[in-house]
Parts: sequence; C-alpha cells; structure tokens
Amino acid sequence: MVILMKQSCTKEQVEQVVATLQKCGLGANVSAGTQATIIGILGDKTKLGGLDITLMDGVEKCVPIMHSYKLASRDMCPEGRLVQVGNQVIGGKKLVMMGGPCAVENEESIMKAAIGVKAAGAQFLRGGAYKPRTSPYSFQGLEEEGLKLMRKAADATGLKVVSEVMASDQIDIAAKYCDMFQIGARNMQNFRLLKDIGKSKVPVVLKRGIANTIEEWLDAAEYIMSEGNYNVVLCERGIRTFETATRNTLDVSAVPVVKERSSLPIIIDPSHAAGKEKYVLPLSLAGVAAGADGLIVEVHPNAKQAISDAAQQLSVEAFADLLQKVGGIAQAVGREI
Ligand code: PEP
Ligand code: MN
Repeated sequence: MVILMKQSCTKEQVEQVVATLQKCGLGANVSAGTQATIIGILGDKTKLGGLDITLMDGVEKCVPIMHSYKLASRDMCPEGRLVQVGNQVIGGKKLVMMGGPCAVENEESIMKAAIGVKAAGAQFLRGGAYKPRTSPYSFQGLEEEGLKLMRKAADATGLKVVSEVMASDQIDIAAKYCDMFQIGARNMQNFRLLKDIGKSKVPVVLKRGIANTIEEWLDAAEYIMSEGNYNVVLCERGIRTFETATRNTLDVSAVPVVKERSSLPIIIDPSHAAGKEKYVLPLSLAGVAAGADGLIVEVHPNAKQAISDAAQQLSVEAFADLLQKVGGIAQAVGREI
C-alpha cells in the first residue's frame, strides 16, 4: 500500500506518518516528487491493527499496490528511480553506454577494448570474468585475475566496471573490483543470489531471464530491493521464442511496459538478442527509440578471434559508429548520450 500525501502537506506531517509506521514495526519508503509525496508501506500492513492512516494530518488517501512487487513498482515511486554508480547516474535524461568484450581474455585485449569504448563515448567497461557457459567444457572465464585486469583497464581509461556475479561466494571478491554487478539471464530467478546481492548494496544490472515474463523479472528485482538495495537497473537481452533467425528475440515492447509498471531504469543488450553483429545496430536504435535508458554492447578489439560470442561482438570502430547513430535517435526522443 502507498500513502499519497496532500500537495500542501508539511515535512513534519510526512515525518509523523513515517514515525507512526515505524512504531507499528513497518518500514517506509518516502518518494518526494515534484507533483506529490508518496510514502510506501514496507511490510505486513496488518501490523497497523485498527489504525486508519487516512485520518492523519497531511494524508490525502491510501492506495493499494496491486502487484506482487512493491518497491519495484511505479506506484511506489511515480517519478522513476535514478541509479547512482559513483559519478554516473542511470535513468536520467542522459543515456548510459556500456561496452566491452563478452569475456575478459587477457590484459592486452581488455586494455584495447577499454581505450576503444572510452573513445567512442561509453561510461562503463563490461566483460565477464565468471562466465555462465552452456557447456562445462567451454572457457569459464579468468575469474579474479580477469576482474583485476578489468579494473586496471577501467582505471587507466576512466571507466566504471560492470561484471557478472554467478554465485554468492563471488560477491565479496567481485566487490573489490567492480562498480556494478550483473546478474545474468540464467540466474534471474536464483533467489538466494538475488537476496545476497540485495544485502551487498552494490548497484546491479539485472538481466531478464531467457524465458521469463516481465512480471517474473520485476519480482526478481523486488528480491534485491527487499534486502535494501534499490540500485537495480533492468536489462532486456532478448527472450526465447520460436524464431531462429536471431539468437533471441529482442522484446522491445518490454521497455514501455517496464516504464509503465516499474520505477526502475531499463537498458538494452542488443548483442545477446541479435547473436549476429549485423543486427546489433538496428536493435540498439530500436531500444533507444522505445525509451531505454542505455545500452550494454559486446565490443572486442579482434572480434573474429574472440573466445566466446565471436559472431555478435562489434569492433571498436563499429561501436563508435553505433554510438554516433544512437545519439541521433536519442535526440529525437528527448534524450542525450
Ligand atoms: C553476458 O552478458 O555476457 C551474458 C552471458 O549475458 P546473458 O546472461 O544475457 O546471456
Ligand atoms: Mn556474451
């Protein structure tokens, strides 16, 4: 349930409501927007007993949240949430651009990727050190050594690091090197991992599961937020459908649907949707046109020789060209890069 405060309400009245909720053993999420102040009730509202919050000074009305996810819902924060990663803000007018290889392979290649994506205009270096591979016989990633190399390349170029964490026991190690975690599609419903990432408070990109609905995805985000980590950025990376022309089917419609139902920023991964380099640009343009808050794109200095996902990785030059073209679309929809 959310409490909608009157437009004329005072700061003291908001504090009074929050204090009352706390006294009942409930949490409060205050969203002070330009239009209205909304207080989300966190916890079991039967704890209110017979207390009628609508009778309190400054309260306009109480509105139930119909979704199973609460903190992730748009009702709880109608203005939309901004996710801060150091000096970078995700979810505002400026789009966030993340680029880098599928996997960190060696020092020279991650450094070249970092120099390239930075020069193209990206703010984040992506790259997997813990790789969720379909086959146990495929390259599994350089693990901590890979994270070290990424941190070094990112520091040398002024980028932030985003990298996947596959299991709870990797969180503490990865937190030493990453500015942001990624939860991959295959782990979207690994609830234990979601809770542990929630406790870690490290900002996180939560990818949509390979065959999950938007509702299930938002419930997954709620798992992280319910542990106190509100720094969640959703990432649409394509879902499994009957179509085989692309690796996955990019669900562009997820962008406006998520914007309507959730307060969280959403970015697009055109690479894992396309599976082929040549489709990455049009999918990126479509995602930004639909209202996405940014892109995460696989970029490799020598894409054809990449150890994983060679077919879908862009060259540094193609990524620079992509960002330039995305800039035009961003402007057309009132955003900037
Ligand atoms: C990745 O980003 O490298 C990755 C494995 O993505 P996904 O989880 O979307 O398949
Ligand atoms: Mn990949």
